Amino acid sequence: MFMWRACSSSLPTKTNLFNRGMLSSNSCPVCQEEANTILHILRDCPYARSAWFKSPLHKFSNPLRVSVWSDVVEEVLREQCKHTIEVFFTLAWIIWGHRNNAWLQKPSVAADCLGEKAVAYKEEYRVVLRKVEDSSSVMVHKWRPPPAPSVKLNVAMTLFRARNSVGMGAMIRNYRGEFITRYCEEFPRSQDGL
Ligand SMILES: [Zn+2]
Repeated sequence: MFMWRACSSSLPTKTNLFNRGMLSSNSCPVCQEEANTILHILRDCPYARSAWFKSPLHKFSNPLRVSVWSDVVEEVLREQCKHTIEVFFTLAWIIWGHRNNAWLQKPSVAADCLGEKAVAYKEEYRVVLRKVEDSSSVMVHKWRPPPAPSVKLNVAMTLFRARNSVGMGAMIRNYRGEFITRYCEEFPRSQDGL
């Protein structure tokens, strides 16, 4: 979502806000020298260049490549492997976060450790994703259809603490595992749900 917004110039860069009359200056809050466009923030600002240069993606620190951010991304998508694309997207997002911090005068992080941070974030995300996939496949394999010609009723309940209510759901499937019907309802906690 971040990269889509970056490529379609819909991120609230100072230049975008300046062009809409919402700011009186469009200078970069990080280097104070150039217009705060998306290409400047993510590639040409000295901070961004340093972050790319010290990362495994140092070739992207070259400012003489294409001059529109979406072209940079297009080139990366066309020429790089999945791992590099993921690190590239993550590092760009972290650099954008740094620019926001600089604008809000929050403490900044040294540019040379961002590459490592991006790789770690990306790996962490991949591990979490794998855990989610593993747990869902366990759920699928645990369920067994009943012997013919029976049907099986599965029931689950959950507590919604904020609303002080209970949610209940049930599903009936036949011996071939085919879905027959379902039921779900939310009711106050004071009632006896069962
Ligand atoms: Zn700058």
